[in-house]
Amino acid sequence: MKLYNTLGRKIQTFRSIKNGEVGLYTCGPTVYWFAHIGNMRTYVQEDVLKRTLIYNGYKVKHVMNITDVGHLVGDSSIGEDKVKLEARKEHKSAYDVARFYEQAFINDIKRLNIIMPDVMPRATEHINEMLALIKKLDEKGYLYKVETGIYYDTSKFKKYGELTGMTFEQLNKYLKAGARVERAAGLRNITDFAVWRFAKEEEKEMVWDSEWGRGFPGWHIECSAMSMKYLGEHFDIHCGGVDHIPIHHTNEIAQSEAATGKKFVNYWFHVAFLTVNNMKMAKSLGNVYTLQDLIDKGYPPLALRYFLLSSHYRSQQNFTFEALDNARNTLDSIYAFLRSLKAVQKEGSLEKEPSDELDKLHKAFFDELNNDLNTPGALRNMHALIGYENKRLSEGKVTKEEANKAIEIMLDFDKILGLDFEKALEEKELPEEVAKLIQERELARKEKNFERADAIRKEIEEKYGIVIEDTKEGVKWHYK
Ligand SMILES: [Zn+2]
Repeated sequence: MKLYNTLGRKIQTFRSIKNGEVGLYTCGPTVYWFAHIGNMRTYVQEDVLKRTLIYNGYKVKHVMNITDVGHLVGDSSIGEDKVKLEARKEHKSAYDVARFYEQAFINDIKRLNIIMPDVMPRATEHINEMLALIKKLDEKGYLYKVETGIYYDTSKFKKYGELTGMTFEQLNKYLKAGARVERAAGLRNITDFAVWRFAKEEEKEMVWDSEWGRGFPGWHIECSAMSMKYLGEHFDIHCGGVDHIPIHHTNEIAQSEAATGKKFVNYWFHVAFLTVNNMKMAKSLGNVYTLQDLIDKGYPPLALRYFLLSSHYRSQQNFTFEALDNARNTLDSIYAFLRSLKAVQKEGSLEKEPSDELDKLHKAFFDELNNDLNTPGALRNMHALIGYENKRLSEGKVTKEEANKAIEIMLDFDKILGLDFEKALEEKELPEEVAKLIQERELARKEKNFERADAIRKEIEEKYGIVIEDTKEGVKWHYK
């Protein structure tokens, strides 16, 4: 299996540290608001990575943290904690806000068929581990104190910035030019960051005593402490969005490697941005969508999953409602294909030629995935299989044996795609009487007899539990 490694910026053959096992850490949500579809892009692509590793026979231990304290507004080194600020706005406790959005996040990833992590550690429940790590860094002389907290002197870590492909000086210049982060007073370098922040007197929630003073942890130290607790000081793969490269992940490496003296992570996996109508998502533009927003507009969650799979994780992807409509229609046509395979009754053995073709496409699908998770390439092979079989179906050539083989391969694809192919196969066929009623209703609509059309729709729903929808592509139906 080949993977692009941000560290070193090359495609490499993946090799795990322990034979047959993979330690996988994915940076989780900051639970102060709903995750948007850009965040979901990252989580879905990480899920593809995990599923591909599992398919290849690895036992994966997956850890995803929950940041319920320490992430400041605008990622600046001063300013308010995101969760605490939202708590003030909602007149709730910080814990209530954090638990509410954590549950909302878990609901979202389940609806997108993302396999749940094995461990989801919360930052507020790992303060001791973070303090122990800070202590190690302090003893080794990496830390200094300013008015707002305890900071890490990045100039002391020789390889600082290695993940970005820039030198320490270049990275400092880059961050200064961006000037996107406000810095605390007294910092030695623009890249320095807080490992521990002092709490204000009036702050009562989510603050802890420590030998450095009363306060709370910085965001970066959380991921270092929690990943090493559950995966060890040296582990296989660490994931996140590309926006994590220059600061968050760069700082995680600096902390972890300075503390342990060991290489922290072998492979760094980063997912590119999702834009909306070719613009960056921003609250001020009103183009920040959550999964629930799409569901409220009538889209099934898996339409978003299919859309996200259709682009390679290292390319920027652009979201439009037109593209989402296409994804939904494609998904419907795949389900229809599966049902028509299932309906094949023709007896007879499987011919060699179609068998070879199916084997070829089956293999090509996984070859594409093993080539740096090329999901668009994998999907191309699946659609080639669907096209090939659909043609043979229309010619009446498909035997039951061939249909079963095609179904088996489609279900194998779905181990990675996670698009509920199994459920589509279980769905009942449309009863003949209902098909007739639908035809009758179409006729009534053509004659502009909408009263009659409506009565038929109601009858179908009440008697058979089937919901009829009129769409641009014609009539669609599903069981209630
Ligand atoms: Zn993280």
